[in-house]
Amino acid sequence: MLMTAEEYRESLRKLKPRVFINGDKVDSVADEPRLAPGINAMGVTYDFAHDERYKHLMTATEQSSGKLVNRMLHIDRSAQDLIEKLEAVRLTCREVGCAQRYLAHDSLSAVYQATHRMDEETGSEYLPRFLNYLHRVQDEDLSVGVAMTDGKGDRSLRPSQQANKDVYVHIKERRKDGIIIRGAKAIITGAPYMHELLVMQCRNMTEADADFAVCCAVPIDVENLTIISKPAGRPGENAAKFAAKYGQSTAVAIFDDVFVPWESVFLAGEWQYSQFLTSTYATHHRHSCIGARAGFGDLLIGAGVMMIETNGLDAARHPHLRNDLVELIKIVEGFYACGAAASIYGFSDASGVHQPDGVFSNVGKLLMASQIYDMHRLAHDVSGGLIVALPGPDEDHNPETKGDLMSMLQTRPDVPYDKRMDVARLMQDLTTSDTAGWMSVISLHGGGSPEALKREIYRYYPLQERRELVERLLDRGVLAVDDETSKNQQPGRCCPVGCQIPATPQLAGPPTMAPIEAPLADTKIKQLPSAAE
Ligand SMILES: Cc1cc2nc3c(=O)[nH]c(=O)nc-3n(C[C@H](O)[C@H](O)[C@H](O)COP(=O)(O)OP(=O)(O)OC[C@H]3O[C@@H](n4cnc5c(N)ncnc54)[C@H](O)[C@@H]3O)c2cc1C
Repeated sequence: MLMTAEEYRESLRKLKPRVFINGDKVDSVADEPRLAPGINAMGVTYDFAHDERYKHLMTATEQSSGKLVNRMLHIDRSAQDLIEKLEAVRLTCREVGCAQRYLAHDSLSAVYQATHRMDEETGSEYLPRFLNYLHRVQDEDLSVGVAMTDGKGDRSLRPSQQANKDVYVHIKERRKDGIIIRGAKAIITGAPYMHELLVMQCRNMTEADADFAVCCAVPIDVENLTIISKPAGRPGENAAKFAAKYGQSTAVAIFDDVFVPWESVFLAGEWQYSQFLTSTYATHHRHSCIGARAGFGDLLIGAGVMMIETNGLDAARHPHLRNDLVELIKIVEGFYACGAAASIYGFSDASGVHQPDGVFSNVGKLLMASQIYDMHRLAHDVSGGLIVALPGPDEDHNPETKGDLMSMLQTRPDVPYDKRMDVARLMQDLTTSDTAGWMSVISLHGGGSPEALKREIYRYYPLQERRELVERLLDRGVLAVDDETSKNQQPGRCCPVGCQIPATPQLAGPPTMAPIEAPLADTKIKQLPSAAE
């Protein structure tokens, strides 16, 4: 069953999570105004799945069940799936800033791959258990929050070395019927308005950290779970043209001895698989982050064009303004192109799940993480100082000031003052408000800090293959060093090409795609060329 946004909101009413915002206990998440922008944003992922213009992107057929599911819960099996997911994330995030629900997609794919690998190599029976969970989540069209980032405590110490073990979620007790987990997850997007949380460890674990290697699903209103949340966006603020309607909350989750039955446990102590699970999730997630921030880029580009126009200028006639816009486009489409390349050069592992290419996913996320600040700078440059200096919206109705403001701050005669203010307030909302700061920090750290991305790029990239290329061109042995000792040691790499075979991708999309109709026609919904083309 594919829910609508209204049904999603209604479904939240049936849950009773223990949620706090700014010191207040929330009685009903669905009716809490401070969470409304977050629920609205999530709602778009539901409504678009019913929208004739978008449902070819927002839904997909789950191969393991044959059922139609929301794209945000689908398991990718091909390059076509990956690019459609990327487009779907961009589509929803350009509408609401951050649609949040794609994290579920990324975690479901990674847990699928990890449970498959564990079962193959250890004889465990995690995958059938996970498939039951996956199908329930898909059938009920749930929203699943990702509880991965632990409190972490002293960053220089491993989980088992921490003075207070609760800074990482861990298995406190194993029972016949399940496990008891305890500890803090520090940053969970949209936690209060999720149906469930998928708990995963956030780093590679050693044998000593085995109790911290845990992956399981918990209902959001499970006993002994407390969600301490921030409001979503800028609810109730008149000046927030965008973030009063659409926003994101983040929350801390305190697991104070939460019982999880075995049927919802997908990894419990198998520390050897922790790196595979976290790294696989990270790759899927960074690929999605690229689509999400490209959607935000679409908003910035559109707002930039409108600021220029409402200021009475024409970018085509003013090279510096045109350059700013082109620079913004270059950044957004540059990192998005990495997402497209990661889709095309992805690979299917033994589970059949199609994973984006690790180098392109991480490079794209790194470009976006570092250039988000340039995106804001460029948007600020075309806008001028008004976006931080403009009078508040109450002045629009103040009889003592309104008239003067309307005439003296007018730009082009055909652009009414209040319309110019609307555009300036939108730009303010997107680039200088608390929401704007959120966008910067999620771009920088969300899905992993830059150093984590760089490590993955170094790990995935076939450096040794490149070295051998040059060695061959120079005639083998010309460097006069021993082959083995000269090998570039990349942590986590097993062979010169790593886990990916650098073959030419063979692409074959589905034979037909629903036609793209206006107003979506100008977005880049792509059909990958078939292998024959
Ligand atoms: C808006 C937002 C939404 C998010 N949503 C989610 C979510 O839904 N689910 C989720 O699980 N996570 C989420 N995250 C968390 C995100 O994945 C983390 O922020 C990211 O992985 C970095 O972790 P951290 O914030 O703990 O920073 P830290 O790990 O503390 O990093 C801070 C700095 O210290 C460095 N550092 C850290 N440890 C070491 C070390 N041992 N040695 C050397 N340097 C070190 C880092 O490289 C970085 O430069 C979200 C983050 C943001 C900002």
